[in-house]
Amino acid sequence: MRLDAPITAIKGIGEVKSADFAKRGILTVGDLLEFFPRGYEYRGDVVPLRDCTDGEVHAVVVRCTKNPVVGRTRSGLEFFRMYAEDDSASLTVTFFGRRFLMDQIRAGRSYRLYGRITMGLCGAEATSPEIEPITAGKPLPDIIPVYPLSGGLTQKAVRGAVEQCLSLCAGFAEILPQEIRQAHGLMPRSEMFRQMHCPESKEQLAVAKRTAAFTELLVFQTALRCMLKAKDGAHADALCETDRDSFLQQLPFALTGAQTRAIAEIKADLAKDVPMTRLVQGDVGSGKTVVAAAALELCAQNGKQAVMLAPTEILAAQHAEKLSKWFEPMGIRCALLTGGLTKKQKNEIKKALLAGEIDVLIGTHAVLQDDVEFAGLGLVVTDEQHRFGVRQRALLLDKSEQAGGKRAHMLVMSATPIPRSLSLILYGDLDVTLLDELPPGRQTIDTLVLTPKDRNGIYGSIKRQLSMGGQAYIICPLVEENAEAEEKSPKKAAETYFAELQNGPFADIPMGLIHGKLTPSQKAGAMDAFASGQTKILVSTTVIEVGVDVPNANVMLIENAECFGLSQLHQLRGRIGRGQRKSYCVLLNGSGKENERLAIMKETCDGFRIAEADLEQRGPGDFFGERQSGEMVLRTASLTDMPLIKETSRALEGILPLLRTEAYKQLFAEAVRVVRRAGSGKTIN
Ligand code: ADP
Ligand code: MG
Repeated sequence: MRLDAPITAIKGIGEVKSADFAKRGILTVGDLLEFFPRGYEYRGDVVPLRDCTDGEVHAVVVRCTKNPVVGRTRSGLEFFRMYAEDDSASLTVTFFGRRFLMDQIRAGRSYRLYGRITMGLCGAEATSPEIEPITAGKPLPDIIPVYPLSGGLTQKAVRGAVEQCLSLCAGFAEILPQEIRQAHGLMPRSEMFRQMHCPESKEQLAVAKRTAAFTELLVFQTALRCMLKAKDGAHADALCETDRDSFLQQLPFALTGAQTRAIAEIKADLAKDVPMTRLVQGDVGSGKTVVAAAALELCAQNGKQAVMLAPTEILAAQHAEKLSKWFEPMGIRCALLTGGLTKKQKNEIKKALLAGEIDVLIGTHAVLQDDVEFAGLGLVVTDEQHRFGVRQRALLLDKSEQAGGKRAHMLVMSATPIPRSLSLILYGDLDVTLLDELPPGRQTIDTLVLTPKDRNGIYGSIKRQLSMGGQAYIICPLVEENAEAEEKSPKKAAETYFAELQNGPFADIPMGLIHGKLTPSQKAGAMDAFASGQTKILVSTTVIEVGVDVPNANVMLIENAECFGLSQLHQLRGRIGRGQRKSYCVLLNGSGKENERLAIMKETCDGFRIAEADLEQRGPGDFFGERQSGEMVLRTASLTDMPLIKETSRALEGILPLLRTEAYKQLFAEAVRVVRRAGSGKTIN
């Protein structure tokens, strides 16, 4: 049977069942084989009844002492009861439903049971365990796979279908050549499938899992490299230091050592005629914007155009304002292109861009989807890279393709300190610069976890900070009140809360409101008023989560902080503690329960520690942004398995030069398949 045969080719799977399988994305025989168990029952680990722990799941082998009898509970529910024993103790088993089983259970026969054993008044008891008759000459399997089910699927149906597949499909094409398998202790692919679904022993299962995870990580990383790595031998325009004045000389502060080093590294990259692909990673507030600006300026000074992309309109607008202030005196022309502009305004900018009348374009990613054309693009900078998907990175790479086969330099910046395991996978193809130093004079942020009953005290403290010249953010999880959600959990909504505060505790204080449902110009207005100090409090949803920089703001109150993820809380908190003022972050826990995430936030401001904790708790989805999580479906590998990730990354380095050879044909094909599945086959070359 071929792997791409529809599963209806399997006996017993017709229209109805195949629809159930389809709901889990299983359409072909190959899909079914890759539908790995979510866990296993170790029914071979048989324990004497006497040694069972009360309330734990155990496997026991017992003799039936008399034929089962039917009974009824007080509420009228029918059950039947089986009496059994082993050499150590006796056991009473109650089965609800499953009447067909009753006739198969006979006094004198032996059975293996698997389920929760409790210690009752009259000895051991079990309720509706799994039961298998023991037959001479037909040993029972020790390890039983457990599949993630949905719809009408049953364990039995899946197991049966998979077993058929395994016996019908022989000779899988190997993805990894033998020398790789040998070097890394892996088993052949067909054996891996067999042991994953019908393990012979724990040892075999361990090797099978390792083989599956190794292969998956290797394929995934190969796919990323194929998709993202600049073409071998691609050229770029060298961008060299000029003797023109730089905005850096006009800054009101001295660069940190880390900023100076980063700029030097970037300039050295840009001076080469191979495209730069560099990631600048620095925690919130480490001063990445200046570093990016230095690169943008150098590009413009070389007569090439540069573009800077940000994930939100608010951030793009803020960058545009900052860069214009720095660059216009240097004779560098900037423009902001966002989705909020009118068609006419957009067209004017596009025209000017093509005519070479704009040197630095700032925008959101959305502008790239439009038919934006450059006269000569030399550099692409992406801010808050972790907000963009792998797919968008591929798209960017396509955009950076220039006339004459040249490619623009690429600089990506990320504030979320991506855990090392992830960055190795995601950015394995990038050179990394760490911005591991905060500008001097920063105060630590005091973080408090409080509850709604502390509210009045909190408002009082905020007022005190405002009277001393500070400013405050108040963050809410929702935009508007939702009556239905309101009943279940009273979450603060920005609009009503704003009105409440303005009419209540902060009646005499100028306040602003910002959220995603405002128009771009309303957002810009609210942001400007806060940045200039006109408003003292900004009530906001998470639209200000990334990048926003108002150094005078030193207080943040996060309502329903328990609703937010760790990375998000860290980013939000990064909006304060950016200036000379002592800063305070209040995490209001509205849930009435202890919260582990909030405890971590209170304990540390270290982005790396927070990111690692987040990865452990929630998996990779959050790091890839919502767009990316769909592309990152790892079935068997874990992104927290650092040793295996390192091993596969190292193996990949050796394999990449050989990827087009016969030995790695299947690996390459598999990588292409993964890229296709992610929806972009474009940049594979
Ligand atoms: P992020 O790394 O989060 O993007 P920003 O680039 O927004 O950080 O910088 C945060 C704040 O620190 C800004 O107000 C910026 O002007 C300021 N800043 C950057 N570099 C320095 C420095 N070397 N000394 C003092 N302040 C700095
Ligand atoms: Mg930033």
